[in-house]
Amino acid sequence: MDNKSNPWRKDFPILDQKVNDEDLVYLDNAATTQKPQAVIDAISDFYSNDNANVHRGVHTLAERSTEEFEAAREKIQKFINAESSEEIIYTKGTTDSLNIVARSYGQSNIEAGDEIVISYLEHHSNLVPWQQLAIQKHATLKYIDLTDDGFVDLKDAKKQITDKTKIVSIAHVSNVMGVENPVKEIAKIAHQHGAIMVVDGAQSVPHMPVDVQDLDCDFLAFSGHKMLGPTGIGVLYGKKDLLNAMPPVDFGGEMINFVHLQDTSWTDLPWKFEAGTPNIAGAIVLGKAIDYLNEIGMDKIQSYESELVDYVLPKILAIPDVTVYGPSDPKKHTSVISFNLNGLHPHDLATGLDMEGVAVRAGHHCAQPLMTYLGLSATARASFYLYNTKEDADKLVDAIIATKEFFKDGTI
Ligand code: PMP
Repeated sequence: MDNKSNPWRKDFPILDQKVNDEDLVYLDNAATTQKPQAVIDAISDFYSNDNANVHRGVHTLAERSTEEFEAAREKIQKFINAESSEEIIYTKGTTDSLNIVARSYGQSNIEAGDEIVISYLEHHSNLVPWQQLAIQKHATLKYIDLTDDGFVDLKDAKKQITDKTKIVSIAHVSNVMGVENPVKEIAKIAHQHGAIMVVDGAQSVPHMPVDVQDLDCDFLAFSGHKMLGPTGIGVLYGKKDLLNAMPPVDFGGEMINFVHLQDTSWTDLPWKFEAGTPNIAGAIVLGKAIDYLNEIGMDKIQSYESELVDYVLPKILAIPDVTVYGPSDPKKHTSVISFNLNGLHPHDLATGLDMEGVAVRAGHHCAQPLMTYLGLSATARASFYLYNTKEDADKLVDAIIATKEFFKDGTI
């Protein structure tokens, strides 16, 4: 499919521009996605027509903004098939969501000698909060090994998760290896040992149907800005019984039932975890982003992206001197593709691609333990979304080849 035949691309005004005199090819979607006009307009609509603080006022604007704010929560609930909207907590993003679980569930359930199990491919936001909790509580942080093609290894998961394990937390889709991990199976193993299962959904929820009841995860974290929504808004899904039993982590307005001079009782879910004025516009506009995704259908988005991967992955693999991380079988690879051009620093590679108008990311991708595991300091990463096309894929491949040529005499 070329750019003109992609039915969604025209909805994203930012894509229609030149970078370094070339048409922009935006392939940094794992970092953040672009926004459709409907989402951009919704921000302006909210502030132009409905802006008021939520939950507090009886005036019409306050009622309107509260209604929209809570309606967006219900959209999110349905989007991930949660049982109740009380299980949907608004947060700042995936990082914030995971920190809440570590600070609330972790602080009250982890004791010295307990185990927290993650994997070698975790993003720092699904690693550092558990590491710090483990240090504080004298618990052990354990790592599940990866398979040869970069998946979290189920066989090793069975070894690492024991009766001492209290928390297992794994990325559904890796932001480096491009793999979809068997989180449903890992959740089963965790539960057999009485542990809870946390899923980092930052790279899965935007790209495929995710059903929390089917996965049977206890918590799921994701970010609005990676799924066409604004920055500064994200979601923590948690099973109601667990959330009810957990203490709040932030204190202040909105999250109280009654404040006495010497103590305070908490309000109900989900507001118990939402102290202070929330990101009202962010939540409502995330709801609009979900409307946009739903109109297309998550199944369709997933199959569209997998068609793109079928097309582009073999072409990247065929470029001499290129190494791709993660599976080389496109059927096993999601639309996050990390690679290196041998002999060239990934930052030089990304700069070379930018000269051709192609935006990719280079670095450790907030996964330094994974880089160490792979024996690398960094990679380049191209990540696709629904508005990308085979035309974009061809430009990426051509730009890699052009960059290779450009640096030929120097570094390669
Ligand atoms: N986990 C994964 C797998 C990610 O890719 C990211 C974002 N790169 C995060 C967590 C953190 O998301 P945020 O920065 O939106 O909190």
